[in-house]
Amino acid sequence: MSEAELEVRRLREQLAALKRQASENYDILRRSRERELVLLKADHLPDLLDRLVNHLADSYGLTAVSVVLVDASHEIRHLLLDAGRSPEDFPGVKLVDGLAGLSPNLLQLRGAWLGPYAAADHQLLFDGRQDLGSIALLPLQRQGWMIGALNLGSRDPTRFTRHHGTEFLSHLGVIASFCLENTINRARLLRSGFTDVLTGWHNRRYLQSRLREELARAHRDEVPLSCLMLDVDHFKRINDTLGHLAGDRVLREIAQRVEAQIRASDVAARYGGEEFALLLPATGLDDAVRMAERIRAAVATEPFDAAGEALRVTVSIGVSEVRPARREGDHKSLGEELFARADVALYQAKGQGRDRVCNG
Ligand code: GH3
Ligand code: MG
Ligand code: MG
Repeated sequence: MSEAELEVRRLREQLAALKRQASENYDILRRSRERELVLLKADHLPDLLDRLVNHLADSYGLTAVSVVLVDASHEIRHLLLDAGRSPEDFPGVKLVDGLAGLSPNLLQLRGAWLGPYAAADHQLLFDGRQDLGSIALLPLQRQGWMIGALNLGSRDPTRFTRHHGTEFLSHLGVIASFCLENTINRARLLRSGFTDVLTGWHNRRYLQSRLREELARAHRDEVPLSCLMLDVDHFKRINDTLGHLAGDRVLREIAQRVEAQIRASDVAARYGGEEFALLLPATGLDDAVRMAERIRAAVATEPFDAAGEALRVTVSIGVSEVRPARREGDHKSLGEELFARADVALYQAKGQGRDRVCNG
């Protein structure tokens, strides 16, 4: 083979290698864009958290993915609860008061950090796992503030090293931050339309939307769903004698006393002016009546403080129950029936002299 032919062959080989490299790079770019699209398509916060933790782990073939989010005011926790999900539903998501103390790497994180897994430094980010070889920590930022980190872990010690390029991973961190901000803002907006300003409780609209979910859950899990409808007795008199502001204070105090009696899983809402409604998931009529009785007593026993005067306030409560599992049929009419029966029972309680619990 002549010199020239050898040169041509060498050049051809070089060109083929470059083409392979370009094609590999294109594949990486395409896969990165696909992963980011999956995040961008998340409809709401719980959906996004699921995608961040589960989809990324599957798609990258990782051993562990976790998301740390600063939630000092417990807002994210409440937004999840509003969406009918518990923070415990997301084992890969850690809601923390601050980033200090979690990992020495986190506080100084500017861009993606790739390197060996050191249990002493990183195990709080990965639930105490000991089986990781290398990790990537991606900062999550909102308006220049560090709001958390997206953490990727692999058993393979060569998977993430400081010699790897960080461009794709940094971009993923930026997209994840953007999606978090977006879904958190959307959840906030939803919450503001679902919240009663006077008591800070949920409003009737929220209750209606939760009713559908709770009926579906009751159907699926074959458990009963109970409803309490509560109305303040002779509330007009309180307004008429002490004024509307005093009336407002009484409503707030009633909300607090009710809240002290219910469980975290119960759904409480201000249903109308001086009416409150509660949904008690997985609770039958007898237990619901017992809870109603406790609430009635918690209001009636201790007098209220109305501008320094002791004021006796009482409430009447109607209780009802449905068992969706036993019946076919649409949830809409079942929900209407649940509320209508509680309303009839409340009307009975009023008719029988108020300050009492009736069930129907
Ligand atoms: P009953 O025992 O039959 O329920 O008697 P009541 O006086 O409570 O019944 P009614 O439903 O006629 O009166 C409710 C009153 O509650 C009328 C309304 O002006 C007042 N109200 C509704 N919303 C508010 C509120 O946000 N603040 C105050 N202060 N009053 C309110
Ligand atoms: Mg009323
Ligand atoms: Mg009333």
